[in-house]
Amino acid sequence: MKKSITCIICPKGCPMVAEMGADGLNVSGYTCPRGLKYATDEYTNPTRTVTSSVRIANLADTMVSVKTASPIPKENIFDLMQIIHNTTVNAPVKIGQVIIENIYGTDIIATKTVEV
Ligand code: SF4
Repeated sequence: MKKSITCIICPKGCPMVAEMGADGLNVSGYTCPRGLKYATDEYTNPTRTVTSSVRIANLADTMVSVKTASPIPKENIFDLMQIIHNTTVNAPVKIGQVIIENIYGTDIIATKTVEV
């Protein structure tokens, strides 16, 4: 299967094409090794950093922004969003605090501080 991929590693945004051939994955259009690695990862195991918000249980109408500490497989994003949606945490929350531990190979961490 041929896949068009735009490199997002630098502002140049090289348009690339990746296709599996008999001799392995063929990538064209990249202009540096970082693009080749990005296209290879996108084709074989695409991952994303997920950002969202978690409800603060002990403060009305308050959320804390969160993100994955490292990228997770793209196929797990929907399930992770459901889990995050059903999660609550009590304030105070400190930036960098682990909100959900060890899920899809990473942690969900707070990206801001919320005081009581
Ligand atoms: S292939 Fe290299 S030069 Fe092109 S966008 Fe990616 S990082 Fe930038």
